Amino acid sequence: MNTQVIEKVEQEVIEWAQTWENEISSLKNMEEYRREFIGNVSHELKTPIFNIQGYLHTLLDGALEDESINRRYIHNAAKNTERMANIVADLGYISKFEAGKLQLELVKFDIVQLVKDVLEDSELKADEKKINLSLIDNNQKPILVFADVESIRRVIVNLISNSIKYGKYNGLTYVGFYDLEDNILIEITDNGKGISQEHIPRLFERFYRVDKGRSRTQGGTGLGLAIVKHILEAHQQSINVRSKVSTGSTFGFTLKKVK
Ligand code: ADP
Repeated sequence: MNTQVIEKVEQEVIEWAQTWENEISSLKNMEEYRREFIGNVSHELKTPIFNIQGYLHTLLDGALEDESINRRYIHNAAKNTERMANIVADLGYISKFEAGKLQLELVKFDIVQLVKDVLEDSELKADEKKINLSLIDNNQKPILVFADVESIRRVIVNLISNSIKYGKYNGLTYVGFYDLEDNILIEITDNGKGISQEHIPRLFERFYRVDKGRSRTQGGTGLGLAIVKHILEAHQQSINVRSKVSTGSTFGFTLKKVK
């Protein structure tokens, strides 16, 4: 009798220790993740802050009176404040999302019209690089989906804006819609610089950039695709990428179709 009790207690202690071990290891992982994230944020903010400091001090040290550079330095400082503001806004969005403060409002709407609206709003940016934006099928019929309009608009704006940022002069961006059983697949394709295979698995990580310099000069925060993935996961949908260096990229995501 006694040995049975002791064995039972021993078993319980072993199980309890195992649970704690798992808990502690998960807390350690979270702590590691948090530390890395704070490190990344401070690193990302450091660059624009140092740039602003540099421009302002040079202006104060006499460049303000130098007509050939003063406006350019003020303009550059302003650009860096914009970059900081973009990073902070994107971080705010992600943290609201993670804290569960952003509720999706699922409604029926026409995804084709939403894509057309975003293409129209992106025309000015595309014109700067003479990039042509279009739907694959000019006679594309409306397609009703069930999703949160504003967050899906954000997904499309992000993917179209990346196709322009990393697209080539006189390039093309086109959008296609493909009918799957329960879902609709939306694909955004460009014939820009492309992404080499080794970067693809990390593309959706926060602050991950293939070419840091280029992303920054284009005003990129490195958070766009992380936000896109968050939004689609909240819809229980997915995103995938196919890309070839110097040929171009296709980003495809799915949404629930209204049948
Ligand atoms: P960013 O703000 O830097 O654009 P994103 O999270 O939107 O951040 O994208 C992450 C990285 O993925 C970019 O820095 C870029 O290197 C790469 N990328 C995204 N879209 C494309 C594309 N259409 N063509 C080539 N590279 C892309």
